[in-house]
Amino acid sequence: IPVDPFDIVIFGGTGDLSRRKLLPALFHRWLDGQIPKNSAIVGAARSDLDDKAYRAMAREACEKATGENWDDKEWSKFEKLIHYVSIDATNTKEDWAPLKSKLTMDGERPCVFYLATAPGLYVEICNALGKEGLAASNTRVVLEKPIGKDLESARAINDGVGAVFSERQVFRIDHYLGKETVQNLMVLRFGNILFEPLWSRNYIDHIQITVAEDLGLEGRADYYDRSGALRDMVQNHMLQLLCLTAMEPPNQLDDDDVRTEKIKVLNALMPIHGEAAKKQTVRGQYKAGMKGGEAVKGYAEELSGVDKSDTETFVAIKAGIDNWRWAGVPFYLRTGKRMSHRHSDIVIQFKKTPHSLFGEGNDMANRLVIRLQPDEGVRLFVQIKEPGPGGLRVKSMPLNLSYAESFTVRYPDAYERLLMDVVRGNLSLFMRKEEVEAAWAWVDTLIEAWEQAGGSPEPYPAGSDGPLAAAMLMDRDDRAWWEGL
Ligand code: NAP
Repeated sequence: IPVDPFDIVIFGGTGDLSRRKLLPALFHRWLDGQIPKNSAIVGAARSDLDDKAYRAMAREACEKATGENWDDKEWSKFEKLIHYVSIDATNTKEDWAPLKSKLTMDGERPCVFYLATAPGLYVEICNALGKEGLAASNTRVVLEKPIGKDLESARAINDGVGAVFSERQVFRIDHYLGKETVQNLMVLRFGNILFEPLWSRNYIDHIQITVAEDLGLEGRADYYDRSGALRDMVQNHMLQLLCLTAMEPPNQLDDDDVRTEKIKVLNALMPIHGEAAKKQTVRGQYKAGMKGGEAVKGYAEELSGVDKSDTETFVAIKAGIDNWRWAGVPFYLRTGKRMSHRHSDIVIQFKKTPHSLFGEGNDMANRLVIRLQPDEGVRLFVQIKEPGPGGLRVKSMPLNLSYAESFTVRYPDAYERLLMDVVRGNLSLFMRKEEVEAAWAWVDTLIEAWEQAGGSPEPYPAGSDGPLAAAMLMDRDDRAWWEGL
């Protein structure tokens, strides 16, 4: 369904995110007929470019992203929407007239300011937009992650942005929420009568959430070494996945109901203080190892000009949610770089049947595996009788729903869905300020405990499943990580 005509200004329009994600996402929406031709897409950055040079840059980016679906004819229509304005977006002494001339600003047409710049500029840019009279009621502002590096800096950004824009105008992106498989999680939970009655401490033994990457730093060394896995992955993506898995059914999907339920989960997340951090968490850092049969460097060797770093590239956490539904159910979270293979899974491990009818070794439990990437799909492991006359042997086998086999349509990138939601003004897949702050408060407590404990992250070889201590974290509870193979 086409959206209404809109204007979008991408501050940081020449950056990596714009080239790899935002411009291709807009082109794909155009190809699907969702963007009206009287819309405007304005790239804005300090570099001195004109429309022609920016369109050439955008074309290269979109051609790369669309691959064999590239459509020259459609591009020549789409590129007419694209403009470029050279501006320092933090500076009100600059002439904003060229930018304003590209915008309709009639009080009705949505005008989106996408801040694809360093987060340190968000408040200054919003102040400039306010001073230039661009923070009207039809204006929306999109903030990329990371929103701060701790609770204090996140609050400073939220308060600074909030001084110019109302909360309903602020769209804080976590692109995980735009992923098809993450949205499917809600459909699976709330579109089937089967799961919800079992979705609690009564029938669930524990839950695992893994986001394993096989890549190393890939040119983000400077940012990553200041951040680490906890801030980079857990504070946002993994806690969002936890919220969607654990939240109560919302009253409705649009508006604020989903966000309200997620905040309730974050507020019930038990803080991990002091000594508990030693028992409930593992920090790791990859050393040299092998990837695809080739030797790869360790983390510290990938950093230039640094001999040693205590930044964690792996983290495993045993978390708990202090509420009626989840009391006593551990949520094991694990993420790392340079792991054996790339996979993101949510594993719901059900309890065993109360009575072992088929004898020892034949009393497995059901497991629901929601695979977010790659090979997106859902597998429900059920117990069946192994065929054959040699006695009654029970085997755990998956009912297997593979997205690729079930649907032949192209998978839209998360940014396509999210950008169109911004234009439509649908906030449900964006984080409310309290969500970001509650997540930081929980992460800050853990970082403080780590700092008090001192020490360095546990080493693990690149290409492995993380440090031994992470396996022990599970083993101590008589459980094991699902390695997703
Ligand atoms: P980047 O490649 O360094 O691009 C930054 C952009 O900001 C450039 O276009 C730069 O162009 C522009 N810029 C800098 N100062 C400016 C100013 N004062 N006024 C206007 N434009 C200015 O960064 P990125 O990787 O695209 O990341 C952008 C944001 O997205 C960051 O907040 C990052 O954390 C977030 N993010 C990125 C990714 C990703 O995959 N790249 C993923 C998740 C989140 P000029 O130098 O020409 O001004």
